[in-house]
Amino acid sequence: MMELKGKKVLVVGLGKSGLAAALFLRRRGALVTVSDVRSAEALAKDIPALLDEGIMVEAGGHGLLTFRRQDLIVVSPGVPLNTPELAQVRSFGLPVIGELELAARFIKGRTLAITGSNGKTTTTALLGEILKEAGIPTLVGGNIGVPVVGLIDQSTDETWSVLEVSSFQLESTIQFHPSIAVILNITPDHLDRHGSFENYARAKERIFAAQDADDFVVLNADNMRAAEAATRSDAKVYWFSVEHSVPQGAWLEAGHLVYRPAPDVPAEDVMLLSGIPLKGTHNVENVLAALCAARLAGAPAEAIRKAIESFQAVEHRLEFVARVNGVEFYNDSKATNVDATAKAVASFDSGIHLILGGKDKGSDYLQLAALLRARVRAVYTIGSAAAKIESQLRGVVTILSCQTLDNAVSAAASAARPGEVVLLAPACSSYDQFEDYEHRGRVFKQLVAERRAWKT
Ligand code: ADP
Repeated sequence: MMELKGKKVLVVGLGKSGLAAALFLRRRGALVTVSDVRSAEALAKDIPALLDEGIMVEAGGHGLLTFRRQDLIVVSPGVPLNTPELAQVRSFGLPVIGELELAARFIKGRTLAITGSNGKTTTTALLGEILKEAGIPTLVGGNIGVPVVGLIDQSTDETWSVLEVSSFQLESTIQFHPSIAVILNITPDHLDRHGSFENYARAKERIFAAQDADDFVVLNADNMRAAEAATRSDAKVYWFSVEHSVPQGAWLEAGHLVYRPAPDVPAEDVMLLSGIPLKGTHNVENVLAALCAARLAGAPAEAIRKAIESFQAVEHRLEFVARVNGVEFYNDSKATNVDATAKAVASFDSGIHLILGGKDKGSDYLQLAALLRARVRAVYTIGSAAAKIESQLRGVVTILSCQTLDNAVSAAASAARPGEVVLLAPACSSYDQFEDYEHRGRVFKQLVAERRAWKT
Protein backbone atom coordinates (compact mmCIF):
# COMPACT_ATOMS: atom_id res chain seq x y z
CA MET A 1 0.00 0.00 0.00
CA MET A 2 1.39 3.44 -0.85
CA GLU A 3 2.04 6.04 1.86
CA LEU A 4 0.00 9.21 1.37
CA LYS A 5 0.80 11.14 4.55
CA GLY A 6 2.52 14.41 3.69
CA LYS A 7 2.60 13.60 -0.04
CA LYS A 8 1.72 16.36 -2.49
CA VAL A 9 -1.02 15.14 -4.78
CA LEU A 10 -2.71 16.97 -7.65
CA VAL A 11 -6.17 15.84 -8.72
CA VAL A 12 -6.92 16.94 -12.29
CA GLY A 13 -10.60 17.28 -13.09
CA LEU A 14 -13.29 17.77 -10.49
CA GLY A 15 -15.92 15.27 -11.62
CA LYS A 16 -17.65 12.85 -9.29
CA SER A 17 -14.63 10.55 -9.03
CA GLY A 18 -12.12 13.44 -8.87
CA LEU A 19 -14.00 14.89 -5.92
CA ALA A 20 -14.13 11.50 -4.17
CA ALA A 21 -10.41 10.95 -4.84
CA ALA A 22 -9.47 14.38 -3.44
CA LEU A 23 -11.42 13.83 -0.23
CA PHE A 24 -9.99 10.32 0.20
CA LEU A 25 -6.40 11.52 -0.31
CA ARG A 26 -6.86 14.37 2.14
CA ARG A 27 -8.30 12.06 4.80
CA ARG A 28 -5.22 9.89 4.41
CA GLY A 29 -3.03 12.91 5.14
CA ALA A 30 -1.98 14.03 1.65
CA LEU A 31 -1.57 17.70 0.71
CA VAL A 32 -4.13 17.91 -2.03
CA THR A 33 -4.69 20.42 -4.83
CA VAL A 34 -7.56 20.11 -7.28
CA SER A 35 -7.23 21.72 -10.70
CA ASP A 36 -9.96 22.03 -13.31
CA VAL A 37 -10.29 23.93 -16.58
CA ARG A 38 -13.83 24.95 -15.68
CA SER A 39 -14.41 28.36 -14.07
CA ALA A 40 -14.82 28.94 -10.34
CA GLU A 41 -18.52 29.69 -11.00
CA ALA A 42 -18.99 26.32 -12.70
CA LEU A 43 -17.31 24.55 -9.77
CA ALA A 44 -19.04 26.66 -7.13
CA LYS A 45 -21.07 23.86 -5.57
CA ASP A 46 -18.01 21.76 -4.69
CA ILE A 47 -15.42 24.40 -3.79
CA PRO A 48 -16.56 25.21 -0.20
CA ALA A 49 -16.48 21.53 0.87
CA LEU A 50 -12.96 21.17 -0.56
CA LEU A 51 -11.65 24.33 1.12
CA ASP A 52 -13.20 23.23 4.41
CA GLU A 53 -11.16 20.05 4.23
CA GLY A 54 -7.98 22.01 3.55
CA ILE A 55 -7.82 21.11 -0.14
CA MET A 56 -6.49 23.79 -2.50
CA VAL A 57 -8.52 24.53 -5.62
CA GLU A 58 -7.32 25.94 -8.95
CA ALA A 59 -10.15 26.81 -11.32
CA GLY A 60 -10.26 28.10 -14.90
CA GLY A 61 -7.20 26.21 -16.22
CA HIS A 62 -3.96 24.79 -14.85
CA GLY A 63 -0.56 26.43 -14.61
CA LEU A 64 2.55 24.40 -15.39
CA LEU A 65 3.92 25.02 -11.90
CA THR A 66 0.84 23.42 -10.40
CA PHE A 67 1.83 20.19 -12.11
CA ARG A 68 5.52 20.34 -11.23
CA ARG A 69 5.42 20.62 -7.47
CA GLN A 70 3.72 17.26 -6.93
CA ASP A 71 4.56 13.70 -5.86
CA LEU A 72 1.56 12.13 -7.58
CA ILE A 73 -1.03 13.16 -10.15
CA VAL A 74 -4.52 11.67 -10.16
CA VAL A 75 -6.50 12.31 -13.36
CA SER A 76 -10.26 12.08 -13.70
CA PRO A 77 -11.61 9.76 -16.41
CA GLY A 78 -12.95 12.75 -18.35
CA VAL A 79 -9.44 14.22 -18.82
CA PRO A 80 -7.46 12.94 -21.84
CA LEU A 81 -4.05 11.55 -20.82
CA ASN A 82 -2.28 13.16 -23.75
CA THR A 83 -2.67 16.85 -22.81
CA PRO A 84 0.67 18.72 -23.08
CA GLU A 85 0.81 19.22 -19.29
CA LEU A 86 0.36 15.52 -18.52
CA ALA A 87 2.78 14.45 -21.25
CA GLN A 88 5.38 16.77 -19.75
CA VAL A 89 5.02 15.65 -16.13
CA ARG A 90 5.17 12.03 -17.21
CA SER A 91 8.41 12.79 -19.01
CA PHE A 92 9.77 14.02 -15.63
CA GLY A 93 8.92 10.58 -14.20
CA LEU A 94 5.95 11.68 -12.08
CA PRO A 95 3.35 8.95 -11.59
CA VAL A 96 0.07 9.80 -13.35
CA ILE A 97 -2.80 7.52 -12.35
CA GLY A 98 -6.59 7.51 -12.36
CA GLU A 99 -9.06 7.18 -9.51
CA LEU A 100 -9.56 3.46 -10.26
CA GLU A 101 -5.83 2.77 -9.96
CA LEU A 102 -5.63 4.83 -6.75
CA ALA A 103 -8.50 2.82 -5.27
CA ALA A 104 -7.02 -0.48 -6.45
CA ARG A 105 -4.00 0.18 -4.23
CA PHE A 106 -6.13 0.46 -1.07
CA ILE A 107 -9.26 -1.62 -1.53
CA LYS A 108 -9.41 -4.90 0.45
CA GLY A 109 -10.97 -8.21 -0.55
CA ARG A 110 -11.58 -9.40 -4.07
CA THR A 111 -12.77 -7.48 -7.10
CA LEU A 112 -15.09 -8.42 -9.93
CA ALA A 113 -14.82 -5.84 -12.71
CA ILE A 114 -17.09 -5.38 -15.70
CA THR A 115 -16.29 -3.47 -18.86
CA GLY A 116 -17.66 -3.39 -22.41
CA SER A 117 -19.06 -0.91 -24.88
CA ASN A 118 -22.63 -1.56 -23.73
CA GLY A 119 -24.37 -3.35 -20.89
CA LYS A 120 -21.92 -2.48 -18.10
CA THR A 121 -24.41 -0.83 -15.75
CA THR A 122 -27.07 -3.45 -16.28
CA THR A 123 -24.65 -6.33 -15.72
CA THR A 124 -22.94 -4.68 -12.73
CA ALA A 125 -26.26 -3.98 -11.02
CA LEU A 126 -27.43 -7.53 -11.70
CA LEU A 127 -24.19 -9.09 -10.41
CA GLY A 128 -24.44 -7.01 -7.25
CA GLU A 129 -27.97 -8.36 -6.69
CA ILE A 130 -26.90 -11.95 -7.35
CA LEU A 131 -23.95 -11.90 -4.95
CA LYS A 132 -26.11 -10.28 -2.25
CA GLU A 133 -28.78 -12.96 -2.79
CA ALA A 134 -26.04 -15.57 -2.36
CA GLY A 135 -25.13 -14.07 1.02
CA ILE A 136 -21.70 -12.89 -0.16
CA PRO A 137 -20.57 -9.55 1.40
CA THR A 138 -20.84 -7.31 -1.66
CA LEU A 139 -19.98 -3.71 -2.53
CA VAL A 140 -21.05 -2.14 -5.83
CA GLY A 141 -19.45 0.92 -7.43
CA GLY A 142 -17.25 2.42 -10.10
CA ASN A 143 -19.04 4.15 -12.94
CA ILE A 144 -22.30 3.13 -11.29
CA GLY A 145 -23.22 4.91 -8.05
CA VAL A 146 -20.24 5.38 -5.74
CA PRO A 147 -16.72 5.95 -7.16
CA VAL A 148 -14.36 3.08 -6.25
CA VAL A 149 -12.42 5.14 -3.67
CA GLY A 150 -15.75 5.55 -1.86
CA LEU A 151 -15.82 1.77 -1.25
CA ILE A 152 -12.39 1.50 0.37
CA ASP A 153 -13.47 2.18 3.95
CA GLN A 154 -16.20 -0.49 3.83
CA SER A 155 -14.05 -3.12 2.15
CA THR A 156 -12.72 -6.07 4.20
CA ASP A 157 -10.76 -9.20 3.35
CA GLU A 158 -14.11 -10.97 2.85
CA THR A 159 -15.84 -8.48 0.52
CA TRP A 160 -16.33 -8.76 -3.20
CA SER A 161 -16.34 -5.35 -4.90
CA VAL A 162 -18.38 -5.43 -8.10
CA LEU A 163 -17.10 -2.57 -10.25
CA GLU A 164 -18.30 -1.04 -13.49
CA VAL A 165 -15.19 0.24 -15.26
CA SER A 166 -14.96 2.28 -18.47
CA SER A 167 -12.23 2.41 -21.10
CA PHE A 168 -11.31 5.89 -19.84
CA GLN A 169 -10.65 4.54 -16.33
CA LEU A 170 -8.78 1.52 -17.65
CA GLU A 171 -6.45 3.67 -19.75
CA SER A 172 -4.50 4.73 -16.66
CA THR A 173 -4.41 1.47 -14.65
CA ILE A 174 -1.17 -0.25 -13.60
CA GLN A 175 -1.80 -2.55 -10.62
CA PHE A 176 -5.61 -2.79 -10.91
CA HIS A 177 -6.13 -6.53 -10.55
CA PRO A 178 -9.65 -7.99 -10.56
CA SER A 179 -10.03 -11.66 -9.57
CA ILE A 180 -12.76 -11.87 -12.19
CA ALA A 181 -12.83 -9.57 -15.23
CA VAL A 182 -15.76 -9.42 -17.66
CA ILE A 183 -15.63 -7.91 -21.16
CA LEU A 184 -19.22 -7.84 -22.39
CA ASN A 185 -18.55 -6.66 -25.93
CA ILE A 186 -16.30 -4.30 -27.87
CA THR A 187 -18.03 -2.25 -30.56
CA PRO A 188 -17.11 1.22 -31.86
CA ASP A 189 -17.66 4.03 -29.32
CA HIS A 190 -15.76 7.09 -28.08
CA LEU A 191 -13.65 7.15 -31.23
CA ASP A 192 -13.43 10.93 -30.76
CA ARG A 193 -11.38 10.33 -27.59
CA HIS A 194 -9.47 7.10 -28.30
CA GLY A 195 -8.56 7.94 -31.91
CA SER A 196 -9.09 4.48 -33.37
CA PHE A 197 -11.16 1.38 -32.72
CA GLU A 198 -8.02 -0.62 -31.97
CA ASN A 199 -6.84 1.90 -29.31
CA TYR A 200 -10.26 1.76 -27.72
CA ALA A 201 -10.27 -2.07 -27.75
CA ARG A 202 -6.76 -2.15 -26.24
CA ALA A 203 -7.90 0.16 -23.42
CA LYS A 204 -10.68 -2.31 -22.61
CA GLU A 205 -8.20 -5.19 -22.55
CA ARG A 206 -6.30 -3.44 -19.78
CA ILE A 207 -8.96 -4.90 -17.47
CA PHE A 208 -6.97 -8.16 -17.44
CA ALA A 209 -3.45 -6.75 -17.86
CA ALA A 210 -2.46 -7.45 -14.21
CA GLN A 211 -4.28 -10.79 -13.95
CA ASP A 212 -2.47 -14.11 -13.63
CA ALA A 213 -3.34 -17.80 -13.95
CA ASP A 214 -5.32 -17.81 -10.67
CA ASP A 215 -7.77 -15.23 -12.05
CA PHE A 216 -10.69 -15.47 -14.44
CA VAL A 217 -11.70 -13.51 -17.51
CA VAL A 218 -15.21 -13.86 -18.91
CA LEU A 219 -15.52 -13.06 -22.62
CA ASN A 220 -18.32 -12.84 -25.19
CA ALA A 221 -17.87 -15.71 -27.66
CA ASP A 222 -20.27 -13.98 -30.09
CA ASN A 223 -18.36 -10.68 -30.30
CA MET A 224 -15.32 -11.06 -32.51
CA ARG A 225 -13.16 -8.32 -31.04
CA ALA A 226 -13.95 -9.29 -27.43
CA ALA A 227 -13.29 -12.99 -28.12
CA GLU A 228 -9.96 -12.22 -29.75
CA ALA A 229 -8.80 -10.68 -26.46
CA ALA A 230 -8.46 -14.24 -25.10
CA THR A 231 -5.19 -14.62 -26.97
CA ARG A 232 -3.60 -11.89 -24.82
CA SER A 233 -4.90 -12.98 -21.38
CA ASP A 234 -2.90 -14.91 -18.75
CA ALA A 235 -6.08 -15.70 -16.77
CA LYS A 236 -8.43 -18.68 -17.12
CA VAL A 237 -10.82 -17.86 -19.95
CA TYR A 238 -14.56 -18.49 -19.56
CA TRP A 239 -17.14 -17.70 -22.24
CA PHE A 240 -20.76 -16.74 -22.68
CA SER A 241 -22.80 -17.10 -25.86
CA VAL A 242 -26.41 -16.77 -27.00
CA GLU A 243 -25.53 -18.67 -30.19
CA HIS A 244 -23.72 -21.89 -29.30
CA SER A 245 -22.27 -24.02 -26.49
CA VAL A 246 -18.85 -23.09 -25.04
CA PRO A 247 -16.09 -25.25 -23.52
CA GLN A 248 -16.51 -23.59 -20.11
CA GLY A 249 -18.95 -20.82 -19.20
CA ALA A 250 -22.62 -20.02 -19.82
CA TRP A 251 -24.83 -20.28 -22.88
CA LEU A 252 -28.38 -20.44 -24.15
CA GLU A 253 -29.67 -23.86 -25.16
CA ALA A 254 -33.22 -24.76 -26.15
CA GLY A 255 -34.81 -22.06 -23.99
CA HIS A 256 -32.56 -22.70 -20.97
CA LEU A 257 -29.57 -20.85 -19.51
CA VAL A 258 -26.89 -23.42 -18.78
CA TYR A 259 -23.43 -23.30 -17.20
CA ARG A 260 -20.47 -25.64 -17.52
CA PRO A 261 -17.68 -25.17 -14.94
CA ALA A 262 -15.06 -27.13 -16.91
CA PRO A 263 -14.81 -28.72 -20.37
CA ASP A 264 -15.21 -32.34 -19.26
CA VAL A 265 -18.18 -32.05 -16.94
CA PRO A 266 -21.90 -31.95 -17.75
CA ALA A 267 -23.60 -28.55 -18.01
CA GLU A 268 -25.91 -27.39 -15.18
CA ASP A 269 -29.40 -26.17 -16.08
CA VAL A 270 -29.62 -22.84 -14.21
CA MET A 271 -32.96 -21.39 -15.34
CA LEU A 272 -35.46 -20.86 -18.13
CA LEU A 273 -34.87 -18.11 -20.69
CA SER A 274 -38.48 -17.02 -20.11
CA GLY A 275 -37.56 -16.23 -16.48
CA ILE A 276 -35.52 -13.18 -17.58
CA PRO A 277 -37.68 -10.11 -16.98
CA LEU A 278 -35.73 -7.85 -19.39
CA LYS A 279 -36.38 -7.22 -23.11
CA GLY A 280 -33.97 -8.04 -25.93
CA THR A 281 -31.27 -10.56 -26.80
CA HIS A 282 -28.60 -8.12 -25.61
CA ASN A 283 -29.98 -8.51 -22.11
CA VAL A 284 -29.74 -12.30 -22.42
CA GLU A 285 -26.04 -11.70 -23.13
CA ASN A 286 -25.74 -9.54 -20.01
CA VAL A 287 -27.54 -12.17 -17.92
CA LEU A 288 -25.31 -14.98 -19.22
CA ALA A 289 -22.18 -12.94 -18.47
CA ALA A 290 -23.44 -12.22 -14.94
CA LEU A 291 -24.41 -15.85 -14.40
CA CYS A 292 -20.95 -17.06 -15.42
CA ALA A 293 -19.09 -14.48 -13.29
CA ALA A 294 -21.36 -15.19 -10.31
CA ARG A 295 -20.70 -18.95 -10.51
CA LEU A 296 -16.96 -18.22 -10.62
CA ALA A 297 -17.34 -16.04 -7.50
CA GLY A 298 -19.04 -18.96 -5.74
CA ALA A 299 -22.74 -18.05 -5.94
CA PRO A 300 -25.04 -21.11 -6.10
CA ALA A 301 -27.29 -21.59 -9.13
CA GLU A 302 -30.45 -21.17 -7.05
CA ALA A 303 -29.45 -17.69 -5.78
CA ILE A 304 -28.53 -16.69 -9.34
CA ARG A 305 -31.93 -17.74 -10.67
CA LYS A 306 -33.81 -15.94 -7.90
CA ALA A 307 -31.89 -12.68 -8.33
CA ILE A 308 -32.27 -12.69 -12.12
CA GLU A 309 -36.01 -13.38 -11.97
CA SER A 310 -36.63 -10.42 -9.68
CA PHE A 311 -34.29 -7.97 -11.44
CA GLN A 312 -35.78 -4.80 -12.94
CA ALA A 313 -34.45 -2.83 -15.94
CA VAL A 314 -32.15 -0.03 -14.80
CA GLU A 315 -33.70 3.41 -15.50
CA HIS A 316 -33.06 4.72 -19.07
CA ARG A 317 -32.03 1.24 -20.34
CA LEU A 318 -34.88 0.08 -22.58
CA GLU A 319 -37.22 1.10 -19.79
CA PHE A 320 -40.96 0.70 -20.39
CA VAL A 321 -42.61 4.10 -19.80
CA ALA A 322 -46.31 3.80 -20.58
CA ARG A 323 -48.97 2.65 -23.01
CA VAL A 324 -50.98 5.54 -24.43
CA ASN A 325 -53.85 4.75 -26.83
CA GLY A 326 -52.36 1.31 -27.47
CA VAL A 327 -48.90 2.71 -28.31
CA GLU A 328 -45.99 1.64 -26.09
CA PHE A 329 -43.27 4.15 -25.18
CA TYR A 330 -39.75 2.95 -24.30
CA ASN A 331 -36.97 5.10 -22.86
CA ASP A 332 -33.52 3.92 -23.94
CA SER A 333 -31.84 7.30 -23.50
CA LYS A 334 -28.67 5.44 -22.48
CA ALA A 335 -28.37 4.16 -26.07
CA THR A 336 -25.62 6.69 -26.83
CA ASN A 337 -23.91 4.67 -29.57
CA VAL A 338 -24.97 2.87 -32.73
CA ASP A 339 -24.66 -0.66 -31.33
CA ALA A 340 -26.90 0.06 -28.35
CA THR A 341 -29.49 1.53 -30.73
CA ALA A 342 -29.24 -1.53 -32.97
CA LYS A 343 -29.88 -3.77 -29.96
CA ALA A 344 -32.87 -1.67 -28.90
CA VAL A 345 -34.40 -1.79 -32.39
CA ALA A 346 -33.78 -5.55 -32.57
CA SER A 347 -35.81 -5.98 -29.37
CA PHE A 348 -39.07 -5.17 -31.22
CA ASP A 349 -40.27 -6.98 -34.34
CA SER A 350 -41.82 -4.10 -36.26
CA GLY A 351 -43.83 -0.89 -36.08
CA ILE A 352 -41.09 1.15 -34.41
CA HIS A 353 -41.09 4.95 -34.42
CA LEU A 354 -37.47 5.71 -33.56
CA ILE A 355 -36.12 8.97 -32.15
CA LEU A 356 -32.48 9.42 -33.21
CA GLY A 357 -29.95 12.21 -32.73
CA GLY A 358 -28.15 14.42 -30.25
CA LYS A 359 -24.41 15.08 -30.27
CA ASP A 360 -22.52 12.98 -32.80
CA LYS A 361 -19.47 10.98 -31.64
CA GLY A 362 -18.06 10.24 -35.09
CA SER A 363 -20.49 7.33 -35.58
CA ASP A 364 -21.56 5.55 -38.75
CA TYR A 365 -25.38 5.48 -38.74
CA LEU A 366 -25.49 3.56 -42.00
CA GLN A 367 -24.79 0.44 -39.94
CA LEU A 368 -28.41 0.68 -38.80
CA ALA A 369 -29.76 0.57 -42.37
CA ALA A 370 -30.85 -3.10 -42.57
CA LEU A 371 -32.54 -3.05 -39.17
CA LEU A 372 -34.29 0.23 -39.89
CA ARG A 373 -35.59 -1.02 -43.22
CA ALA A 374 -36.98 -4.19 -41.62
CA ARG A 375 -38.50 -2.87 -38.41
CA VAL A 376 -38.78 0.91 -38.29
CA ARG A 377 -41.74 2.87 -39.71
CA ALA A 378 -40.11 6.26 -39.35
CA VAL A 379 -37.11 8.00 -37.83
CA TYR A 380 -37.56 11.32 -36.00
CA THR A 381 -34.30 13.28 -35.78
CA ILE A 382 -33.27 15.70 -33.04
CA GLY A 383 -30.17 17.67 -32.09
CA SER A 384 -26.96 18.62 -33.84
CA ALA A 385 -26.33 15.16 -35.37
CA ALA A 386 -29.60 15.36 -37.34
CA ALA A 387 -28.06 16.57 -40.61
CA LYS A 388 -25.47 13.75 -40.64
CA ILE A 389 -28.06 11.11 -39.75
CA GLU A 390 -30.42 12.39 -42.44
CA SER A 391 -27.75 12.41 -45.12
CA GLN A 392 -26.54 8.89 -44.24
CA LEU A 393 -30.01 7.34 -43.96
CA ARG A 394 -31.81 9.17 -46.77
CA GLY A 395 -33.67 6.62 -48.91
CA VAL A 396 -33.37 3.89 -46.27
CA VAL A 397 -36.35 4.91 -44.16
CA THR A 398 -38.87 7.74 -43.80
CA ILE A 399 -37.20 10.56 -41.86
CA LEU A 400 -38.91 13.47 -40.14
CA SER A 401 -36.70 16.32 -39.07
CA CYS A 402 -37.96 17.38 -35.62
CA GLN A 403 -35.09 19.35 -34.03
CA THR A 404 -36.32 18.93 -30.44
CA LEU A 405 -37.37 15.95 -28.35
CA ASP A 406 -40.68 17.67 -27.69
CA ASN A 407 -41.45 17.85 -31.44
CA ALA A 408 -40.24 14.30 -31.97
CA VAL A 409 -42.48 12.82 -29.27
CA SER A 410 -45.49 14.73 -30.65
CA ALA A 411 -44.83 13.64 -34.24
CA ALA A 412 -44.11 10.00 -33.33
CA ALA A 413 -47.08 9.70 -30.99
CA SER A 414 -49.44 11.12 -33.65
CA ALA A 415 -48.13 8.78 -36.34
CA ALA A 416 -47.98 5.58 -34.26
CA ARG A 417 -50.91 3.17 -34.46
CA PRO A 418 -52.11 0.88 -31.65
CA GLY A 419 -49.66 -2.00 -31.20
CA GLU A 420 -46.71 0.10 -32.38
CA VAL A 421 -43.79 1.43 -30.36
CA VAL A 422 -42.24 4.87 -29.84
CA LEU A 423 -38.61 4.30 -28.94
CA LEU A 424 -36.06 6.86 -27.73
CA ALA A 425 -32.73 5.15 -28.55
CA PRO A 426 -30.83 8.09 -30.03
CA ALA A 427 -27.35 6.60 -30.85
CA CYS A 428 -25.78 9.91 -29.78
CA SER A 429 -24.73 11.62 -26.60
CA SER A 430 -27.06 14.23 -25.16
CA TYR A 431 -24.77 17.16 -24.43
CA ASP A 432 -26.00 19.43 -27.23
CA GLN A 433 -29.52 19.80 -25.77
CA PHE A 434 -29.46 18.18 -22.31
CA GLU A 435 -27.28 17.99 -19.20
CA ASP A 436 -26.76 14.26 -19.71
CA TYR A 437 -28.58 11.12 -20.89
CA GLU A 438 -30.50 10.92 -17.61
CA HIS A 439 -31.88 14.42 -18.11
CA ARG A 440 -32.86 13.49 -21.70
CA GLY A 441 -34.61 10.32 -20.46
CA ARG A 442 -36.49 12.22 -17.76
CA VAL A 443 -37.67 14.85 -20.27
CA PHE A 444 -38.87 12.03 -22.56
CA LYS A 445 -40.81 10.38 -19.72
CA GLN A 446 -42.30 13.75 -18.78
CA LEU A 447 -43.45 14.37 -22.37
CA VAL A 448 -45.05 10.90 -22.44
CA ALA A 449 -46.76 11.56 -19.10
CA GLU A 450 -48.17 14.83 -20.44
CA ARG A 451 -49.60 13.03 -23.46
CA ARG A 452 -51.16 10.45 -21.20
CA ALA A 453 -52.79 13.11 -19.05
CA TRP A 454 -53.99 14.89 -22.15
CA LYS A 455 -55.53 11.81 -23.78
CA THR A 456 -57.53 10.63 -20.79
P1 ADP B 1 -23.18 0.84 -20.14
O1 ADP B 1 -23.04 1.04 -18.67
O2 ADP B 1 -22.10 -0.01 -20.73
O3 ADP B 1 -23.44 2.08 -20.92
P2 ADP B 1 -25.98 0.04 -19.84
O4 ADP B 1 -26.40 -1.17 -19.12
O5 ADP B 1 -26.13 1.36 -19.19
O6 ADP B 1 -24.46 -0.14 -20.29
O7 ADP B 1 -26.67 0.07 -21.26
C1 ADP B 1 -26.28 1.05 -22.23
C2 ADP B 1 -27.13 0.95 -23.47
O8 ADP B 1 -26.80 -0.23 -24.18
C3 ADP B 1 -28.61 0.87 -23.20
O9 ADP B 1 -29.21 1.54 -24.28
C4 ADP B 1 -28.91 -0.61 -23.22
O10 ADP B 1 -30.26 -0.87 -23.58
C5 ADP B 1 -27.92 -1.12 -24.27
N1 ADP B 1 -27.36 -2.42 -23.94
C6 ADP B 1 -27.39 -3.06 -22.73
N2 ADP B 1 -26.73 -4.22 -22.81
C7 ADP B 1 -26.23 -4.33 -24.07
C8 ADP B 1 -25.43 -5.31 -24.76
N3 ADP B 1 -25.01 -6.42 -24.14
N4 ADP B 1 -25.12 -5.07 -26.06
C9 ADP B 1 -25.54 -3.95 -26.67
N5 ADP B 1 -26.32 -3.01 -26.09
C10 ADP B 1 -26.65 -3.18 -24.80
